[in-house]
Amino acid sequence: MYRYLKPRNYYLRVAHEFRRCYKVLAIESSCDDSCVALLDKYLPLEPPKIIEQLKKTLNSSAKGGVVPTDAHEFHQYTVADLVFKLSKKYDLNDSPPDLICCTRGPGMVGSLSSSLQLAKGLALAWDRPLIGVHHMLGHILVSNLPKAQQPDIPPPKFPYLSLLCSGGHTMLVFLKSLTEHEILINTCDIAAGDSLDKCARELGLTGNMLGRELEKLVDNIPQSTLEDFELVNTNNRNNRFKIQLALPFKGPKHPRVPERLEFSFASFLSTIQQHKKQFGEFDNLTKQFIAYKVQNVLFKHMIDRINVCIQKHGLLGDGKLIGVNDIICSGGVASNKRLREMLSTELKYKDLNAESGSNSMVKFHFPDLELCTDNAVMIGVAGIEIYERIKKKSSLNILPIRKWPMDKLLDVDGWIDI
Ligand code: AMP
Ligand code: ZN
Repeated sequence: MYRYLKPRNYYLRVAHEFRRCYKVLAIESSCDDSCVALLDKYLPLEPPKIIEQLKKTLNSSAKGGVVPTDAHEFHQYTVADLVFKLSKKYDLNDSPPDLICCTRGPGMVGSLSSSLQLAKGLALAWDRPLIGVHHMLGHILVSNLPKAQQPDIPPPKFPYLSLLCSGGHTMLVFLKSLTEHEILINTCDIAAGDSLDKCARELGLTGNMLGRELEKLVDNIPQSTLEDFELVNTNNRNNRFKIQLALPFKGPKHPRVPERLEFSFASFLSTIQQHKKQFGEFDNLTKQFIAYKVQNVLFKHMIDRINVCIQKHGLLGDGKLIGVNDIICSGGVASNKRLREMLSTELKYKDLNAESGSNSMVKFHFPDLELCTDNAVMIGVAGIEIYERIKKKSSLNILPIRKWPMDKLLDVDGWIDI
């Protein structure tokens, strides 16, 4: 019986850990989604639990894109009401959350300010610490949460790589620690999600998440037609659809000319627009073909540039990335099944790990679909990390930040040591 007893300091430690149980309110409105979430944090080394999350999205389908003033008005109308719903259901006035986390940037200033003002008010009224969170850090750290489709994968460990691909950003980030980030590849024009949305609109698709609609269109193409499309070469226009959809930056290289470590997604849209101008509206087969090829070539371009980057910084290059065992794929576009499949099979990630003899050394992390697109849970998760590990909170005079590079997380005003 004696052997079941644990040392005295074990019980002290458990008691101490349970004292750290706290509740977190998170708010996000950096673009067109109004999101709030309530999280529970029990043990220091365990990820928080989601009590509830609510989300409302501005419908911009008639406007052909998000209009910043409409988004500002939408959040003014929506965010406080969503917090009120949580407050009523969980009695937040009588037992307020212990920490308030809110997106500070990057994003549209009008959108950001709606929830930041509210978060400041709540922090003041409830006398609780406020954390002004970096939106992209949220997209990355959300992969610390358990994943429904990858239940056996433990959270990623530093150093790791993160491919962030959303409607506003597309970048490959190298994270040495929570605060040391290096952007290895960025887009030189528009984001992958923006490009997919605009291409889908040119193809006549309607809705709010056009990248997702494009995926649905491609998923519904019969297998025999897909096999036929596979045989069509689009490296030039000499094909029966008369369209060129080639990999940007891929071509004959001179050994002395360094590879461009950039993403570029604008050319896909202009190619489709030019085709439409020259040949008129697309018939159904051409529409299916372009949808299939654009999605495929755009993802291939991302993988092609990441492979060049791994070559440059991996085992055969300067060795910067040696030891990376985890790759996180986040942002709305990362919910695309085809992209997930291509990343898992086409990345040359064996070059990342010196000891790696087998592919299984590198783990891909794909957050659950509803946590890939903008949400407040990710802001809560990142806020908790800032509070617990970096031990900082934000002052009540922080302002929204429209452009906030990921590698400048702590280089902005308003951080207070706790
Ligand atoms: P975010 O900016 O992270 O909220 O993500 C929104 C972007 O992700 C939009 O451009 C969407 O069109 C895109 N998106 C969402 N779901 C998918 C999908 N399944 N495939 C491709 N793009 C998607
Ligand atoms: Zn986002």
